[in-house]
Amino acid sequence: MTPSFKTPRARVGEPPIFEKGAPGRVGVSLPAEDVGDVPLDLPPALLRKVPPLLPEVTEPEVVRHYTRLSQLNASIDTHMYPLGSCTMKYNPRLNERVARMPGFALAHPLAPEGLQRGLLQILCELGLWLQHVTGLDAVTLQPAAGAHGELTGVMMIRAALKDRGDARRKILVPDSAHGTNPATGALNGYEIVPIKTGPEGHVKVEAVRAVMAQDVAAIMMTNPNTLGVFERDIKQIADVVHQGGGLVYMDGANLNALLGVATVADFGVDVVHVNLHKTFSTPHGGGGPGAGPVLCVQALAPYLPTPVVVGPPEAARFDHDRPKSIGKVKSFYGNFGMLLRAHCYINELGAAGVMQVGRDAIVSANYVRAALKGVFELAFDAPTMHEAVFTDKRQKEHGVSTLDVAKRLIDLGFHPPTIYFPLIAPGALMIEPTESEPKETLDEFVAALKQIDREAQETPELVKNAPTLAPARRFDEALAARKPVLRYRRQGSGT
Ligand SMILES: *Cc1c(COP(=O)(O)O)cnc(C)c1O
Repeated sequence: MTPSFKTPRARVGEPPIFEKGAPGRVGVSLPAEDVGDVPLDLPPALLRKVPPLLPEVTEPEVVRHYTRLSQLNASIDTHMYPLGSCTMKYNPRLNERVARMPGFALAHPLAPEGLQRGLLQILCELGLWLQHVTGLDAVTLQPAAGAHGELTGVMMIRAALKDRGDARRKILVPDSAHGTNPATGALNGYEIVPIKTGPEGHVKVEAVRAVMAQDVAAIMMTNPNTLGVFERDIKQIADVVHQGGGLVYMDGANLNALLGVATVADFGVDVVHVNLHKTFSTPHGGGGPGAGPVLCVQALAPYLPTPVVVGPPEAARFDHDRPKSIGKVKSFYGNFGMLLRAHCYINELGAAGVMQVGRDAIVSANYVRAALKGVFELAFDAPTMHEAVFTDKRQKEHGVSTLDVAKRLIDLGFHPPTIYFPLIAPGALMIEPTESEPKETLDEFVAALKQIDREAQETPELVKNAPTLAPARRFDEALAARKPVLRYRRQGSGT
């Protein structure tokens, strides 16, 4: 079977809008001015010497230019987007409709609290729902992303330890944790002690016992970890860390895999962040915005960022009187639009629907894993949660690498999965189908990967030269990273 849709062949080489049109051309007809020129009382240094560099184009030129650009993209609205770890699930339009309602979209963050009752109710309800889902006691919705939630959570741990006069220096981080975990520990001034993942893709309690010591502040565990594997020893690991006087941080970015399946509080976790933009469906391509709420046990609640929303929902208010708080971590109260979309998503699905998300995500990932087992090498041959990690070991024998496979997938109508991550699986292809794809699409995706494997054996050059159908071929990624061109320069103008 071949995929039923291909990458749209949009007009290739769409030039920058500045290279279109002609001098003096305008896209609007405005009535004649009815006020005279007013001289500006500004220092000459602030006045322009040359007119601003604006495109001079007609309205159809503008519309076609941006519509064509939009067609050059692969997107969740046009393609399955199996980007492991990032969770690019479909975002229901309903969320967008609600987020654009004027009462929400035009709300001013400095409006008096008395005029924000409805907004506070939404924040309060969302917080309570997240407490319910995770089983934890308190919450902040302020952090703007997963990594920001980690920073917040570890700052809280540091403050709590300092408070009990027991500043510790180290944080334990398994090698299957997300890269932001060691970065967060280091940013908080901790030394990172790595722990090796066991042969079945999860951390063994003995490995933690071996490094647990007096100066360990906490362990940061990603669960499910970046191999998509459930950390089945997490409770015993938490016990070991607690007995040694440390705290337990869980990276719950991929809470979507746990919904309806397991409760974070049962793992012995003290503080966790969850990514609303991965779990509760808000658009998050191109770097945001996101939301990374942090939940914690009662003992850590005093350290939550200020203000905290306190209930009940119908009478929710901000509590600023938090003497032990680590302070504010985001202006106003976080990315309200994202929180609102998550509220809407949960509200639409209801409790039973939310519980189903995790199961469907897990079934989808294991379906793909089973279908491709024997074609692509599995990084760890264990049942997974929400994503499956393969490597290019077999295709490498024909000179075809993970990068080539990813590029060929573009020709076959799929956004590539996450590649070369996690680092503990060399040549990784990390596939996360999410719960929102129907079986037919999963079958087409599997068929495309099987076709690429056949091509790797029979016509490897075809795979190595891919993509041929996309608007652009391969980029010099090293050059793009080292010498990014971020500003348009009109030819010859020097501006
Ligand atoms: C995505 C992810 C993060 C980082 O989240 P951002 O919102 O991108 O900052 C951290 N940990 C895990 C496990 C993730 O999957």
